[in-house]
Amino acid sequence: MNGLLERYEPHAGSEEISLLRQMAKPLEGKTLVHVNSTRVGGGVAEILQRLVPLQQELGIRSSWEVIEGDEGFFQATKTFHNTLQGMPSPFTESMREAYEDANRRNAERLRDLLEGADYVFIHDPQPAMLHSLCPNRRGKWIWRCHIDVSNPVPGVWRYVRHWVKGYDASIFSLPDFAQPLPHTQYLIPPCIDPISEKNLPLEEREIGRLLAPFDLDPDLPLILQVSRFDRFKDPIGVIRACERAALTDPLQLVLAGGSADDDPEGALVLEEVRAAARDLPFVKLLVLPPDAHRTINALQRAATVVFQKSLREGFGLTVAEALWKERPVIGGDVGGIRLQVLDGRTGYRVRTPEGAALRLLDLLHHPEERNAMGAAGREHVREHFLMTRLLRNHLALLLSLEA
Ligand code: UDP
Repeated sequence: MNGLLERYEPHAGSEEISLLRQMAKPLEGKTLVHVNSTRVGGGVAEILQRLVPLQQELGIRSSWEVIEGDEGFFQATKTFHNTLQGMPSPFTESMREAYEDANRRNAERLRDLLEGADYVFIHDPQPAMLHSLCPNRRGKWIWRCHIDVSNPVPGVWRYVRHWVKGYDASIFSLPDFAQPLPHTQYLIPPCIDPISEKNLPLEEREIGRLLAPFDLDPDLPLILQVSRFDRFKDPIGVIRACERAALTDPLQLVLAGGSADDDPEGALVLEEVRAAARDLPFVKLLVLPPDAHRTINALQRAATVVFQKSLREGFGLTVAEALWKERPVIGGDVGGIRLQVLDGRTGYRVRTPEGAALRLLDLLHHPEERNAMGAAGREHVREHFLMTRLLRNHLALLLSLEA
């Protein structure tokens, strides 16, 4: 016991912590391997960074492997990401080959570890084929889908489903994403980590120090969206919304993002966003390094209103992060944002830049409404979207699978 779990007590309560310890008892000594496609950038890496040490502290021999691939592989998996979230785009024979070759190479490297593990969690489609490439599997294999697959391009879903259907279980974030599959499907939304650099409390002085390099105007409302530069995050829609609101109300918009190792489209989308912002002096683009957690924390705390105007969203950790900091969120009316942005209570859900502009003006004109939504948002996250809840859901799942 190294006391990591106890640090969650102020947020989750001591009963929850002792429940976690009790639930984990039968799992002590079991081996569990997570496999995903990047160690930094994006929500999955963010969660695994903490979930793995917490599982270790509970006596589970949990580890985390990252699948390796070349550019062709990540082009192929980005096409999965886009098409499974409903954006038509060709999935070519050479992409199929790049995907299968990379999985074969990774299987060579990881086979012994994976075949010997009691539990294997494969995150998203990138490493999904590993299951078929490890024929002497001993344990239970779980496919954890983090993306919004409510309306996938059918041919691509059929291809991914082929690799996924043999798993023992799958996990989706929302009922809307569940798919016809011949195994049990669990619904587990992701969560944020209240004790991470991204979310721990910051003093005003430190916020000022962290944001000093960005030349923000302390007298103007700060509107913020933090996201990878990805079209599904609709950064240009956010610019359009703020452009409209800025006609009557002076404001500054910060679009903060970085790249993820498994996202080859980021640079292209960043250029599109730069072009859209070219003649708009109130827009600031911040390209941040992957470890800029404190800076993002400070930006979220300094924001007046936070946007997550996604067009598709598996969950949207950035929403929970902002709500936890008592900021109202204007979010796209899609996927996991619907679980977090309770319309009119923790923020507003919007479909168009025009709608977003109206909601933004409403919030800018009503500070008391912003405060009430912020307080409700924090409670909503405390109740539903903290790391301890995710840990509990995972323990229940492991116990129910009995490896
Ligand atoms: N994030 C970050 N730096 C960036 C952009 C995003 O650290 O430049 C973090 C963000 O704070 C959040 C995660 O990456 O914790 C993104 O998760 P989310 O579920 O919002 O989106 P995803 O990237 O997984 O689609």
